[in-house]
Amino acid sequence: MFKSIYPYSGEVVAEYEEDAAPLQKVEKAHQVFSTWKNKSLAERQQLIVRFAEVLEYRKLEYAKIISLEMGKLYNEALAEVEKCAITTRYYAEHAPEYIQPLVMQSSFPRAYTSFEPMGTILAIMPWNFPFWQALRCAVPNLLLGNTVVLKHASNVMGSALKMQEAFLEAGFPDGAFQALFLSSDKVEQIIADPRIKGVTLTGSGPAGSSVASLAGKYLKKSVLELGGSDPFVVLKDANIQLAAETAVKSRFQNAGQTCIAAKRWIVEEDIYDEFKELTLNHVSKLKLGDPFDTQTTLAPVSREDLAISIEKETKKLIADGAKALLPTERQGCLLSPTILEITRSHSAYYKEELFGPVGFLLKAKNTTEAIEIANETPFGLGASLWAQNMEQAAGLMRQIQAGSVYLNSMVKSEGALPFGGIGESGYGRELGKYGIQEFANVKTYAIQ
Ligand code: NAP
Repeated sequence: MFKSIYPYSGEVVAEYEEDAAPLQKVEKAHQVFSTWKNKSLAERQQLIVRFAEVLEYRKLEYAKIISLEMGKLYNEALAEVEKCAITTRYYAEHAPEYIQPLVMQSSFPRAYTSFEPMGTILAIMPWNFPFWQALRCAVPNLLLGNTVVLKHASNVMGSALKMQEAFLEAGFPDGAFQALFLSSDKVEQIIADPRIKGVTLTGSGPAGSSVASLAGKYLKKSVLELGGSDPFVVLKDANIQLAAETAVKSRFQNAGQTCIAAKRWIVEEDIYDEFKELTLNHVSKLKLGDPFDTQTTLAPVSREDLAISIEKETKKLIADGAKALLPTERQGCLLSPTILEITRSHSAYYKEELFGPVGFLLKAKNTTEAIEIANETPFGLGASLWAQNMEQAAGLMRQIQAGSVYLNSMVKSEGALPFGGIGESGYGRELGKYGIQEFANVKTYAIQ
């Protein structure tokens, strides 16, 4: 039994029975694939645009379920659904360009590669952006001609069901996109099934490692979008006011539960005190509370067990030498925000991801040390650099080891930009051209 619990009040929103026969859904997806793959791209595009329309006119309903299931601020949930619709339209428009066959110059008179669907893809997704994460897999793969089964996080099964209904309402064949009600210990039978041709997981390192092992065991293509400890590097020539405001936004939106949040603010010595004061001022003004109250600016953490573990971890770091700029208090899922001032000697702190409303602030002697600290992590998801000298910044951006680097902006995902990590942040890409090609059979045709 899966329970959706409203984090703000602890009330049970809904309960869902586990699938008794999940492989029947895999069979259905496989059956649908045999016809879906033969539809023209134009037909698939038409349905995808209709799906965007469904997202647009049902956005209030979808935002409500997101907020109820994982406590996101209602306004942030609305923005999530709107972003889903925009990205869906983006892919509908750009798919022809991204998956058009490519002519190859070779020893053959004629040769080309084409991007062809592989079959049914298993998507294992987290709760932090219940619609967005699942959509990043579903939309490009359905456009390509694959079918998708979604094993969503156990606390957001209602969102998974709403997405399935939305695809049906848009006119997709029943079985093109299905929600599996499956616990994570039963994933192996799905990955092992020969009708499943690939698996993509967005989530934590341990889950990624386990799924990657299974994908290896059964020789399935896999994509892993895992955690991060993103650096937010502020150099002395930066626009400090804007950098401070953006650092706080990036770290504390979605209650700090964002893979690409600015988790480590690394600030050059000369501007450190000013940056500290500005960020402290912004964080002190955050209003923790009811996700449906428009005055609230900080959401509850999505599950009480997670709030307890973040509180414990924070207290442990303080006992180990981190200096808290604000006290940590917790009531149920409501966890107050804090900033922990740390030094480079605490680098062990950012080898693990802290997934909640806690910012790390570090002082760097100079630019060289700032970049060294930025790279002192086994993760490599996103990074943000703040500087005015464009020539210097361009060189530094290349030195930062990450899947993406943003200059004078927080890291944010959008349809056109490939998204993914290196190191312990995973492998493979979602979004953009590379996202739609991940689960394609890149097939070579050579004609003598
Ligand atoms: P999680 O606990 O790893 O769960 C993610 C998904 O994996 C859930 O559906 C979960 O199912 C399933 N799962 C967990 N353990 C599994 C296992 N051993 N085998 C198969 N499936 C398993 O992560 P989360 O707490 O939901 O999400 C937070 C994490 O996701 C953070 O680390 C965050 O950085 C990362 N994330 C990464 C990105 C990215 O694009 N790189 C984006 C968003 C989030 P159950 O719920 O049933 O356990």
